[in-house]
Amino acid sequence: SAPLVAIIGRPNVGKSTLFNRLVGRREAIVEDKPGVTRDRLYGVGSWEGRHFLLVDTGGVDPSLDTGLPGDIRSQAEVAIEEADLILFVLDALEGATTVDFEIAAHLRRSGKPVLVAANKADSDRRELAAAALHELGLGEVHPISAAHGRNVGDFCDALLERL
Ligand code: GDP
Ligand code: MG
Repeated sequence: SAPLVAIIGRPNVGKSTLFNRLVGRREAIVEDKPGVTRDRLYGVGSWEGRHFLLVDTGGVDPSLDTGLPGDIRSQAEVAIEEADLILFVLDALEGATTVDFEIAAHLRRSGKPVLVAANKADSDRRELAAAALHELGLGEVHPISAAHGRNVGDFCDALLERL
């Protein structure tokens, strides 16, 4: 079956924008177990003929996406446990916040492979700023612009290499 790729990150970093760009078609499936999985949105992504199941842990209801560490544990933990690969999304404009460091520590403890994206890297200048996010200690940081598509192809290449 298709590998499961979970998109993790605090609110407003662009998780859903990235999800929509990677899924590319509006066929996202919302699991209909009431109260349990309403906060997770699934879709099929494909690149170079390979398919993967994507989960947007911010989900369909933005009010559930508070991004607090407690919510990361309760809402996204199942997705992290199930996932074959985590896409950890950061905001290249804002840089690494305290919550980002907490999520990073949680992801390291999970032992799952993590691919780090510095989103909103819409320009060369912002791409340079994204390099500072190496400080999170999760390896290479991929500057992308989910909204404009910048570097998303290279990011997908890196994604396939990790699957
Ligand atoms: P989420 O809460 O993590 O799911 O974030 P959203 O996908 O809802 O995006 C939050 C905000 O960031 C929205 O206003 C998006 O339009 C904006 N955004 C997302 N990706 C980009 C990007 O690549 N560049 C810029 N400049 N804005 C973006
Ligand atoms: Mg969202």
